[in-house]
Amino acid sequence: MGKIKMTTPLVELDGDEMTRIIWAMIKEKLLSPYIELNTEYYDLGLMQRDETDDEITIQSANAIRKYGVGVKCATITANKQRMEEYKLKKMWKSPNATIRGILDGTVLRTPIVISCIKPAVRTWEKPITIARHAFGDVYGATEIRVPGAGTASMSFKPEAGSPENRVIHEFKGAGVLQGQFNTDESIRSFAHVCFKYALETKQDLWFSTKDTISKQYDQTFKLIYHEIYETTYKSDFEKAGIEYFYTLIDDAVARVIRSSGGFLWACKNYDGDVMSDMVSTAFGSLAMMTSVLLSPDGCYEYEAAHGTVTQHYYRHLKGEETSTNPMATIFAWSGALHKRGELDGNDVLCKFAKSLETACLTTLEGGVMTKDLAALCEGITPKIVTTAGIIDAIKLTLDEIIDLSEN
Ligand code: NAP
Ligand code: MG
Repeated sequence: MGKIKMTTPLVELDGDEMTRIIWAMIKEKLLSPYIELNTEYYDLGLMQRDETDDEITIQSANAIRKYGVGVKCATITANKQRMEEYKLKKMWKSPNATIRGILDGTVLRTPIVISCIKPAVRTWEKPITIARHAFGDVYGATEIRVPGAGTASMSFKPEAGSPENRVIHEFKGAGVLQGQFNTDESIRSFAHVCFKYALETKQDLWFSTKDTISKQYDQTFKLIYHEIYETTYKSDFEKAGIEYFYTLIDDAVARVIRSSGGFLWACKNYDGDVMSDMVSTAFGSLAMMTSVLLSPDGCYEYEAAHGTVTQHYYRHLKGEETSTNPMATIFAWSGALHKRGELDGNDVLCKFAKSLETACLTTLEGGVMTKDLAALCEGITPKIVTTAGIIDAIKLTLDEIIDLSEN
């Protein structure tokens, strides 16, 4: 059999540490033997970012805008300690933040679910995807530590017209003060991404805020979602047999816990930050959480939700065996290849991406897994393998699946 061909390049963003090691293994063992990989390669390893004054990150994001699909390895976000470790010129911005800024995207996170790992919530049968509006609110807030008595007020000065002023609080003593903002433009992008993704994956969309308390701020989110749904997506939702509904965040939390899963939950920035950690932990492990950045103009960037697994990398450097879970990184590749195939009408590529995912799930369900999962596994006696061992085991399963499907 000849290798699968790709018509359009997939934008490949390499990264750091243990995930960089896994990245190379995945390409060598699980992709290159089957596909004539056509990627436009960007090395986002910290040294390369430093050498190029982070231009490489910007170029990679622009390449995703050009071709529509990218796959990204986890990268180190520079901090003080990394500045010393890598002797960096500057404390470069997080690549994810840079890419998100350029693509204006919303981050969607979905757990990979297997039968031998039971979610902490017994009723959950299907994955729950969290869509986090990763812009503004408390993350872009201006804060004052109020030292003592005084008046706090809020003012807005329009370009034309007279300013609006409100007293927030008459402080009798020390306290705290915070000013938050968001923009209609960003809220609209967020809504479009969520409606489109729900349609694409044929899942209900839930949206929650606290509009009963936040009568202007959260209400604006609610009204924008409502307007966009009514004018743009309602009939497509009805045709697809899926539902959009808005509810208070308190009610959403209760419903999520009682649900059987299988829907998209759109959250404001802070809610999404907290709830995605809650959902991923309740489903099992960060190493099983996939992540896709989706832009309003239809660009996709697939990655794992976890970081570069530094502690495992240091052990690897010392020559010790590691048992690092490659699942989320493999699913980033399969997701990106599938999307590339879909956009190019390349059915063979789509089929391969699905086979790769099936091979991963079959291997785990068969009890062969990394240490992190073995600790969570119920009902079977797991066989714990190394990082290279799990990739080899998946390759064996993949070869069987591909042989079978060809007969
Ligand atoms: P991390 O790399 O996600 O790892 C934290 C811990 O979670 C690991 O020590 C490990 O626990 C467990 N873990 C995560 N992924 C795993 C996997 N695939 N298999 C097995 N165990 C896994 O987070 P971190 O240590 O906080 O951050 C490390 C670096 O990653 C930092 O430089 C950070 O800036 C960067 N980061 C990047 C991204 C991104 O690029 N998207 C996201 C987050 C963090 P045990 O040690 O207990 O086995
Ligand atoms: Mg968080």
